[in-house]
Amino acid sequence: MNKAINFVLDLFFPSRCPICRNFIRYDELICEKCIKKLKKYIPENDDILIKINDMFFDKILAGFYYENEVRNGIYSLKDGHKEFGYYLGNILSELILQDELISKSDYIIPVPMSEKSLRVRGYNQADIIAETISVKTGIKMMTDILYKNPSEVQHSLNKTQRMKNVSAYNINNTDLSGMKIIICDDVCTTGSTINRCAELLKNMGAAKVYAAVGTTTKLKRNE
Ligand SMILES: [Zn+2]
Repeated sequence: MNKAINFVLDLFFPSRCPICRNFIRYDELICEKCIKKLKKYIPENDDILIKINDMFFDKILAGFYYENEVRNGIYSLKDGHKEFGYYLGNILSELILQDELISKSDYIIPVPMSEKSLRVRGYNQADIIAETISVKTGIKMMTDILYKNPSEVQHSLNKTQRMKNVSAYNINNTDLSGMKIIICDDVCTTGSTINRCAELLKNMGAAKVYAAVGTTTKLKRNE
């Protein structure tokens, strides 16, 4: 759309920051104040990797720590405002393009939602992030091989239950021999979901499975 039209739209339908709900310009996804408050994930700490015992993915990229403003951004993403998903997609695209191996992936696959949850929300928030990445990086998106069986909502489960609930994910029989695939999700908590998805993809012959998660919880070292 041309800038003049956007400017007029801005006057009549002003956009709001998905985190603080203050008005933002038409060409912004989040206000500058909130962007400054988002805490970037530091790979050197390897918080995600030490949560997992048998690791099936080869490398992980993450945008931010799941806390404070970032948490509000995720809430808004799950509540009909897709801007934070586009923002996370942009950030992860930059990280992917900077990575010599991951940027050469064949496909990006968002972690699926169950049919029932999808009907309730109307969209999968991981799709929003993965779609953005696909557009920015040219890596094709694939949504028809992984699926999630109906089950209890993951977040209502405790950590042990959640570890067991990973069996909720499954895969259609597909030959992925030699493929390099990125699994994409909005939040990584125990790491068990992306690890299960990576296991399923490797079982189908995937050569490499990488993970790109918008946000990750910070691990307390004494857990
Ligand atoms: Zn804001």
